[in-house]
Amino acid sequence: MADRDGFIWYDGKLVPWRDATTHVLTHSLHYGLSVFEGVRAYRSEIGTAIFRLEDHTNRLFNSAHIYQIPMPFDRDTINEAQRMVVRENQLESCYLRPLVFYGPEKMGVSPKGAKVHVAIAAWPWGAYLGEEALSQGIRVKVSSFARQHVNVTMPRAKVATTYANSILANTEALQDGYDEALLLDTEGFVAEGSGENLFLVKDGVLCEPEIASALTGITRSTIHALAADFGLRVVTKRLTRDDVYIADEAFFTGTAAEVTPIREVDNRQIGSGRRGPITEKLQKAFFDMVNGRNPKYHHWLSKV
Ligand code: PMP
Repeated sequence: MADRDGFIWYDGKLVPWRDATTHVLTHSLHYGLSVFEGVRAYRSEIGTAIFRLEDHTNRLFNSAHIYQIPMPFDRDTINEAQRMVVRENQLESCYLRPLVFYGPEKMGVSPKGAKVHVAIAAWPWGAYLGEEALSQGIRVKVSSFARQHVNVTMPRAKVATTYANSILANTEALQDGYDEALLLDTEGFVAEGSGENLFLVKDGVLCEPEIASALTGITRSTIHALAADFGLRVVTKRLTRDDVYIADEAFFTGTAAEVTPIREVDNRQIGSGRRGPITEKLQKAFFDMVNGRNPKYHHWLSKV
């Protein structure tokens, strides 16, 4: 990743990709406190556009606020920087990674005295769980690792330290031959995937776990909007792992994972074992939206 052409926005200016580096004594590298976003731009029918840019930037600022990280730039600057990164790298469809971290000015748990840095990179990234996953669905393992309790790393923040927990779960799932992990919370109720929110379909109703120990996904709220368009009811409640086993359909949502059907969980087939009809309808509507084919949602597309 580090050795490629292009530009990264780093502390207010574009720098050549290979020069966007930091010292090994970077505070965030040692203590795990950085906040970040995952954003996508699509080559849409109205031109290349970043999907729900303002919402991602707002979440980034909320993450920083939760962790009391003073943001050195305002929202408009961060929004424009993201557009600039897509433009200057001449990308049509890509993934963007804004990252806020503490620099190498000091060591010790307290970040006081370390400088806050902001970097924004963008690169082409296809289907996160593979092209085939989008049509065929994936196999998921309920993780032996619990999602952090709500009072541990703060689930409303997209903070790097949460992803150590995600890596444990994802690595276990892959090593056991699955495609992705589903984490339960510390009480045993369904939380989320290692980098995705979960939806189920049961008797024609869309169900999702209460967003306690999970990130408030932007793709999740996009699905809420589409469900309303289709007159689909969304029920948010505590879900158990066996609620997932007996669902008619299941899918993950995320900026990277987009809308990925789940065909199996813990060796139990979900519904027909294929992408279900409601999943397919929502997935198609999602791709229509992000690709600019639904004028109702053009306001969620920020042209670069
Ligand atoms: N949960 C976790 C842990 C994630 O990393 C992500 C991806 N950002 C999501 C849920 C989905 O969030 P979004 O739809 O905003 O990408």
